[in-house]
This record gives sequence, C-alpha cells and structure tokens, in this order.
Amino acid sequence: MRLTDIKEIRRLFEMSGFSFSKSLGQNFLINPAVCPRIAELGGCKKGVCALEIGTGVGVLTRELAERCDKVVAVEIDRRLEPILEETLADFDNVEVVFADVMETDLSELIREKFGDSEVVVCANLPYYITSPVIMRVLESRLPISAMTVMVQKEAADRICAKPGTRECGAISLAVSYYSEPKMLFKVNRGSFMPAPNVDSAVIRLDIKRDVPLPPDEERQLFRIVRAAFAQRRKQLVNPLSAELGRSKAEVAELLAECGIKTTARAEELTLGEFMRITGKI
Ligand code: SAM
Repeated sequence: MRLTDIKEIRRLFEMSGFSFSKSLGQNFLINPAVCPRIAELGGCKKGVCALEIGTGVGVLTRELAERCDKVVAVEIDRRLEPILEETLADFDNVEVVFADVMETDLSELIREKFGDSEVVVCANLPYYITSPVIMRVLESRLPISAMTVMVQKEAADRICAKPGTRECGAISLAVSYYSEPKMLFKVNRGSFMPAPNVDSAVIRLDIKRDVPLPPDEERQLFRIVRAAFAQRRKQLVNPLSAELGRSKAEVAELLAECGIKTTARAEELTLGEFMRITGKI
C-alpha cells in the first residue's frame, strides 16, 4: 500500500466519503521521501515508542510502526476512522485515539500506553496549532527524549532562531528553555495534498533532562520574555517597567546589575540573560 500515491488516496476518500478539512490543517504528505526521514531522524527504532499527533491517512503512522515497538496516534477527525482501519490493518502495534490533542492529558496517555519505555513524539503538525501543540508538549514536561515535527518553514526559522537575530521571538526562547532545537530539512509545498501556500521544514527538539528553574520562577521568566517581545522594537526598559510596575530608572538599574546594556532590545538577549533578570526580581 503506497499512501503517497494520489490515486490510492483518492480511492480511500471515495470509499469513505472523506473530503479535506482546511480548518483542521489537513495537508497530507505525498512525497515518499519525507516520512521515512522523519521516522529515522526522529529516533524511531526497536525499544522506542512513538506518540504521533494527527494521522491523516496514516502515511507517517505506518513508518513509525515499522520501526518502533508501539505507536499511539492522537487524531481529532473521526471521519478518518474507516480509512485508518484499512491503512493500519497490517500493524498490531498501533493504536489511534480519536481526540483533540489540546484537550488530551498527554502525560497520562504516555504513562498508560507506554509505561517506562523511551518515547519520542513525531508529527506533521496541523498549521493552525503548531506553537500551542509544541508548547503544550514542552510545558507538560512529558517523559520524552525528542520531538520531531514538520511545521511551516517560517515557524521553523523562528523556533530555531538564535538570540540577536531578526527571527528570534518569545517562542525561540521558550523552546530553547526546554530543549535543544535543530533544523533537519526543508520540505517544499508540492510535497502535500492539497499543496499549502508556503514551504515547510522538519525540526527536532532534543528534550533537556533538567529544566533550570522551579515552576513559579519559570512562570515569571516567561511573563518577562512575552512582555519584552510584545514590544520588541522598543528598548527593554519600557516594556519591563510597564510589566513589573517599576520606574524606568529602577528597571535600568536592575538591567545594569545583570550586566545588560540599558539600551538593549528583547531580541539581543540570551535566555541566560532573561533568567538573570528573573533571578533579580
Ligand atoms: N500525518 C499526516 C500526514 O503527514 O499526511 C497528516 C498531517 S495533517 C498536516 C494534520 C493532521 O492533524 C490531520 O489529520 C488533522 O485532522 C489532525 N488534527 C488537526 N487538529 C488536531 C487536533 N487538535 N488534535 C489532533 N489531531 C488534529
């Protein structure tokens, strides 16, 4: 069964009466080179279990199932059920859970389905919730070793951006707090059915074992990061003084104590410098 073959996909759609939902970000992969690379670079192998988000017709699910001990996939669209029954029929190590990933307790799901096994997350994410899904997985501190996902190219650039670059934003710092992001490879828009208006890229987030701050300081850190990047063109003293309810002179002094220029803008700071500011508050 070749799930990257357009004729095969059309046959499955006709059999089940399925049609694409744009609002669910349904752009299915039809480039046969992509899914094996996601599975391999995502760390799928014997002894490892995979959590997938969004199955579509199961094109990536099958690649994960061929390599991993077990795959659990969360898919919101129940209309895909008859298709998946056929496309995943050869695999007895796959379970599809029909649910909204944003409403699912992923920690509980992983504990229940995978026990103590090593777990990776792999997905071609629906574009409309890329950042919320990534942040949900990271903030829940799931017991996973890596998350390998396809996202829009611009989102990938932002997530993997280094401090001091134009692409760097609150999401770059948040992701680098929990993980080490790597850009893996670019995927052009013609690799999908239907083709979106933009290209995509696959990134891997290698999860850090220990996050540096306790939860209350972590909340404070991200409050400051978000406020700073909300006015990224302004000097940091302005948004921070508004957010913290302190005078600009006080904030300037605080920055100086942290060894940060008082004229600095959000995108010039490293995560370590934001953490220093949080520590001083
Ligand atoms: N993995 C397939 C592929 O590569 O062809 C499908 C990828 S498609 C970009 C995204 C998938 O996520 C769709 O199957 C869509 O129905 C599903 N999806 C969208 N929103 C979701 C949500 N909130 N929870 C779970 N699945 C969702």
